Amino acid sequence: MKILRLAIPSPLRRLFDYLPPEGIDPDSLQPGSRLKISFGRRETIGLLVEVSTHSEVPTAKLKPAKSLLDLQPVLPDTIARLARWAANYYHHAEGDALHQALPVALRHGEPCEYRHSWFWQASPNATLDTLAKNAHRQRELLAVLLAHPQGISQEALRAEGYELSPLKALREKQLALRSQHNPQLHHAHATVDILRQPSLALNDEQQTALDSIRQEAGFSVSLLDGVTGSGKTEVYLQAIEHILHKGLQALILVPEIGLTPQTIARFKARFNVPVVALHSGLTDRQRLDGWLKARDGQARIIIGTRSAIFTPMAKPGIIIIDEEHDTSFKQQDGFRYSARDLAVYRGRMEHIPVVLGSATPALESLHNALEGRYHWLKLTQRAGNSAPPSFELLDIRQQTLSDGLSAILIDKIRQHLQQQTQVLVFLNRRGFAPSLMCHACGWIADCRRCDANLTLHRQPPRLHCHHCDQQHPIPQHCPQCNSTELQPVGAGTERTEQTLQALFPKTPILRVDRDSTQRKDAMQNIMHQVQQGDPCILLGTQMLAKGHHFPRVTLVAIINADGGLFSADFRGMERTAQLILQVAGRAGRADHPGQVIMQTHHADHPMLQSLVAQGYDAFATLELQQRHQAQLPPYCHYALLRAEATQRGRAEAFLAAVRQQFASFPNTETAPCQWLGPLPSPMEKRGGMFRAQLLLQANQRKPLHQILSQLSEYLEHHLEARKVRWSIDVDPIDTF
Ligand code: ADP
Ligand code: ZN
Ligand code: ZN
Repeated sequence: MKILRLAIPSPLRRLFDYLPPEGIDPDSLQPGSRLKISFGRRETIGLLVEVSTHSEVPTAKLKPAKSLLDLQPVLPDTIARLARWAANYYHHAEGDALHQALPVALRHGEPCEYRHSWFWQASPNATLDTLAKNAHRQRELLAVLLAHPQGISQEALRAEGYELSPLKALREKQLALRSQHNPQLHHAHATVDILRQPSLALNDEQQTALDSIRQEAGFSVSLLDGVTGSGKTEVYLQAIEHILHKGLQALILVPEIGLTPQTIARFKARFNVPVVALHSGLTDRQRLDGWLKARDGQARIIIGTRSAIFTPMAKPGIIIIDEEHDTSFKQQDGFRYSARDLAVYRGRMEHIPVVLGSATPALESLHNALEGRYHWLKLTQRAGNSAPPSFELLDIRQQTLSDGLSAILIDKIRQHLQQQTQVLVFLNRRGFAPSLMCHACGWIADCRRCDANLTLHRQPPRLHCHHCDQQHPIPQHCPQCNSTELQPVGAGTERTEQTLQALFPKTPILRVDRDSTQRKDAMQNIMHQVQQGDPCILLGTQMLAKGHHFPRVTLVAIINADGGLFSADFRGMERTAQLILQVAGRAGRADHPGQVIMQTHHADHPMLQSLVAQGYDAFATLELQQRHQAQLPPYCHYALLRAEATQRGRAEAFLAAVRQQFASFPNTETAPCQWLGPLPSPMEKRGGMFRAQLLLQANQRKPLHQILSQLSEYLEHHLEARKVRWSIDVDPIDTF
């Protein structure tokens, strides 16, 4: 009797046993193949983990799988091992982790094969002479086709940067032929040289960093700690060049909002090799193609966001995590993995170097560098001839503000615009105003489902909860006293846009936030206008902080630098410092010196002072000392047990019972683990659920993981646990 042990996308932390589908020889089945099964009342996909001879379920109760979807395993062994390790480390259900490691199309049962695309050849008697001298684009393409008598795929042509519209013209003139193409079979490089553009001559710091990365044979982790504009990307490019010469592939992870056309273009411009970008604009089908090309070794450079860490590579050569401090590398729900930390594990597994790059490294990474676990590579100077920006704290205590802007700041903006340069105004709050208040009775519009105020938006007009996404029409009267004196309180980007437009009527104001960039191409159009270089004011949220180069911006104005100074989360300071420096880094990247002005009510705050006077490293050293004294991460390890329920108090009571249950574990000073809580979550009510959390802290990972294993086992089988929604978060990045 052969039993198939399947991984199924389910929250249950176990595998499921099935009989082989009818007519299939179980010995021919390989782990990593997909089977269609019925599971409960639904039909789903199971991934074969192993074929066994024994099941704890009585044979009569076992169901046969419905059908086999793959003759070859779809999940490569390395990726299966990575996902399984992650499931174990993050105490997440293995079946779900394995499924999340697959592209969505494969999770949905699509065939694991390339989409057919077009394959182009020159017609047998086609010559360049048949084309008019001024038909440049057609001539250029025909020349490429003539140089490839075997033909070339449309994909490859596009990857090489050719426009495709002239192809149609060539076909109409019967100079080119089109046929169906399976790119797996025909692999076409239009050119042989790896470099399309020469690499830059590195400065000494860059060269030292590059040498160090290149020297590494096998696994190593390097922290490339370089100020914004210091040429980290150039170091990545040359490290990649080196591994491309060895015939290997590179995987580059960037933050969610960093995967811009600009970024992709930079890699494509440098190298003559197929580059696959796994970005959010792709269909599931296109993603699958990219994934297949990476797996088969055709894609030489793969750029993607968090989930791309699970992209298989036939010939792995290097993994690079750009802006490694970015919180988008940690998945914040469901399978709560950190792609950065998985990259390090994967590098070790595949014996390849891992590079973590940032101008503002996470304190965890700095700690690892200080402890000697990571090579610490520093770039302290801006590359080329651009000078670092100057910083200024603008004390706004007792200053008159017009919608948040002080007179001094407005003056500065005017000065820079008069010099014909551009200004970036940073305000990390979208909408018109963060709240709507009744002037007569003090009523404030709040969300019924969350402990939060509703944000007033004018474009289009609505009250919008930024936490649960509920939207309401704007009331004409106060629901409490019927007064019509409803007033917006505070300013978001929409209101600041209006204020700036009134102050600078002749200057274009380009607003960048989630609302203004919803339409496809909106962001690209804004970026295009900025690149034109005419004076303008760029106003936006943290969407402006990453992945962009604004060479004509000479002033960065931070309207409120105080955001995270008094946050309940111990990481508030770190985040604020990172955000400020990332935004500031947009200024003066070319030959124009940059100036950064930060409005604050706390100009003498030591953290702001050290950041402004000495930079990130000094700030980070100070912050690490404080973490050490308080025994906070990275000097200890955290895991959070979160719970939520529809009834107030229930989640908290549940967590208290869990803690009680585990009280048998020693809980004294010398004990390996300590419980903190339960406590209501900082925003207790959210989306109609009441939330609470229980923190588990330990100096060593091992005892922490032992308890977590028992905990997840207990929770899964404990009846009370079904009345709440619970989750385990290992190495959480927001603790409060
Ligand atoms: P980072 O990634 O650290 O922010 P970039 O790699 O984007 O920095 O480099 C900033 C600018 O400096 C880019 O315009 C880049 O082309 C230029 N640059 C980088 N390295 C050098 C170099 N060695 N010589 C001259 N210019 C350089
Ligand atoms: Zn009122
Ligand atoms: Zn809400």
